[in-house]
Amino acid sequence: MSQLPLRAQLASALGRTAATLSRATGRGDGSVIGGRVGLALEPDLLRKLAQDRRLALVSATNGKTTTTRLITSALQELGDVATNAFGANMPAGHVSALSSAKDAPYGVLEVDEKYLPEVIDTTGAGVVVLMNLSRDQMDRAAEIWLLAQKWRRALAGRNTHVIANADDPLVTWGASTAPSVTWVSAGQPWKEDSWCCPECGGPLDRKGLDYVPPGGHVSGVVGPATQDENDWACRECSFRRPQPSWILDGETAIDPRGRRWPLDIQLPGRANRANAVIALATAEAFGLPVERALPRLREVTSVAGRYTTVEREGRHARLLLAKNPAGWLEAFDVLDPTLPVILSVNAQGPDGRDTSWLWDVDYRVLRGRPVYVTGERKFDLALRLEVADVPFQLMGSFAQALAAQPPGKVDVIANYTAFQQIRSEFGRAV
Ligand SMILES: [Zn+2]
Repeated sequence: MSQLPLRAQLASALGRTAATLSRATGRGDGSVIGGRVGLALEPDLLRKLAQDRRLALVSATNGKTTTTRLITSALQELGDVATNAFGANMPAGHVSALSSAKDAPYGVLEVDEKYLPEVIDTTGAGVVVLMNLSRDQMDRAAEIWLLAQKWRRALAGRNTHVIANADDPLVTWGASTAPSVTWVSAGQPWKEDSWCCPECGGPLDRKGLDYVPPGGHVSGVVGPATQDENDWACRECSFRRPQPSWILDGETAIDPRGRRWPLDIQLPGRANRANAVIALATAEAFGLPVERALPRLREVTSVAGRYTTVEREGRHARLLLAKNPAGWLEAFDVLDPTLPVILSVNAQGPDGRDTSWLWDVDYRVLRGRPVYVTGERKFDLALRLEVADVPFQLMGSFAQALAAQPPGKVDVIANYTAFQQIRSEFGRAV
């Protein structure tokens, strides 16, 4: 790697010092403050740090932290990889990640959806990974169609290779101005944000599902086995799902040559199998074959506390993070149906103050198991469950909810700050 100019070296070094001080004083992992210091001293620092590396940017509403981790693990087969492992996914976090691994020839950066166009432009990344777009943080997030439109503009006319989920119509539209795309059939269980064609506004037809209007009842009846349940097409224009070259088929990845690879990863649930297939497709774009990438993906057991278990007095609570309706749907898929579940919802800044999205989640899947409700918005969630005919118990705190369990396992679904609170209170108690 060529030497950074002196000013950039100095900015990078001071940023690292600030990050070390921040960690030493217990103010988090320091990646944001370090990056901010670096950028203040050298506004062009991210561009300079990105030069001469092979970079992948990873963006989506859900799964970007986990997928960034999976891709990073795979690419470590090839050499050192710089990455923002703690989810600091805006430019200050990227500066920090790249300056703390100055000589790494590879970089895998999780990027906030809104910042993606800017970061593509600044870093000139050779690979961009786009997975899903759905409603999130309703009081402050940009409308997702507008986000996809910005992605289109950022990718048009660039020499960037995109790995994109062909099953998500909005992601497909956002990616389709890129000169080359590897399309992955990674599934899209949450369809409530893609009933309309992003190109013309017409209705989208979905194969394997009868068309139902938003909020209507989905029959769930899948067509004949030969029919691809993830297929979609606009009824009124030529926009339709591209032919995928990678496919998630149950527990198996199918590669572009039609070979089937049992995934056998340790991270649970359908969403993580989708993340893994996308990681394999991305690894291939870096020249890394499946037989070398897949064993690396299997080594990942938890990502930034997700899927870890905290323990107190014989109660083992597995922590699942769900921040928006699509995320809750994926979390339900991971739940053990034989276990009780604790739900905790907060509404602080990082969660979004508006929790009206609770009404978009179909909680009926929780019927038939003990459900405990806590968090700052426990009454909102309780009302939602009441309307869905899901019996539950209100608890004053997560600690009380945990203490109310018999010794053994329990699942926990929490949104962002609720999850972080549980981790900081219980994570180190093991
Ligand atoms: Zn259309």
